[in-house]
Amino acid sequence: MTTPDLARDGLLPAKPATLADLVAAVCRFRDERDWAQFHTAKNLAAAVAIEAAELQERFLWKTDAEVERDLADAATRAGVAEEIADVVMFAMLLADRLGIDLADAIPAKLAANERKYPVELARGNARKYTELGGG
Ligand SMILES: [Mg+2]
Repeated sequence: MTTPDLARDGLLPAKPATLADLVAAVCRFRDERDWAQFHTAKNLAAAVAIEAAELQERFLWKTDAEVERDLADAATRAGVAEEIADVVMFAMLLADRLGIDLADAIPAKLAANERKYPVELARGNARKYTELGGG
């Protein structure tokens, strides 16, 4: 079995792919398999959480230093990349299922975060916005 080349196979344009290109490719993968019937909002939200847990499992019981050391290994890094991709792809499918355009939702959330975490209050600390004391 050979690794598919998504650009060659027409699933994706040649790099750089846009967010819309990636969402379309993920939806096409789903539709070619007739899997939308299983993709209820509840199931997709669970899938996001399950894939996030798989990502966390890669780091479970390791110190930060051990994680950094392990990520220097190409195979380990590739496995982590796969779990991150799983999380993002299921999030894309959930957004599609709900009719949410991530090209709108992500900038809107980023703008909300900009308001909650002004640079002059948040830079260099990890406090929650409710504890920044900005008024
Ligand atoms: Mg996974």
